[in-house]
Amino acid sequence: MPRNRFAAFIIFLTVFLALSPPLFSQEFGPRGPEGDIEDWTIIESSYATIYAERDIDLRNVARKIDVSFARYDPIEKTLFYDKGISGAEKLANKIDIIVRKDKKILDMHPQGFHIDIRIYESNKELRGIYEEIFKESKDHKAFYIHKFRTIYVSLPNVSESVLAHEIGHAIIDNYFAILPPMKIRELLACYCDVHLKD
Ligand SMILES: [Zn+2]
Repeated sequence: MPRNRFAAFIIFLTVFLALSPPLFSQEFGPRGPEGDIEDWTIIESSYATIYAERDIDLRNVARKIDVSFARYDPIEKTLFYDKGISGAEKLANKIDIIVRKDKKILDMHPQGFHIDIRIYESNKELRGIYEEIFKESKDHKAFYIHKFRTIYVSLPNVSESVLAHEIGHAIIDNYFAILPPMKIRELLACYCDVHLKD
């Protein structure tokens, strides 16, 4: 890289790191209330165990995740065009498509990658679980906690872009033996949702 451009990059990085607030503190308590196991619908995909609150219509969740970019991929399009399957299967397929796309975007392929995804019915519940875990209140669309290998998201906030970002965090955190600084991981996760549809 020419010196000027390198200097410009360093200045950009410094400003970026200085301006970005930390996403959340590393101090947290228990995983949060599990509730009764009957309160959750549990769906297994290749890379994730998805827990959706019992009253959530899985077709509705699947509809909110647009993976139409997969129709151009010779392997993924089979899953994309899979018709006559349940909402749960559709959701599982879409999560798997996003995981594989994120891995490709990052060129990171952590071995045995498997996470949990918890889908809450409302933003209020998501805020509640955040507060329970971090002992502070924040309005996040979704968040990933590496310690629990879990993504937390609310139904209103489910989208391919939010999931690509959080799944990106999960892949990044599972890939590095020594985690890079939070802000660098944030940059990489943003890279996933920006390039999801490329
Ligand atoms: Zn993030």
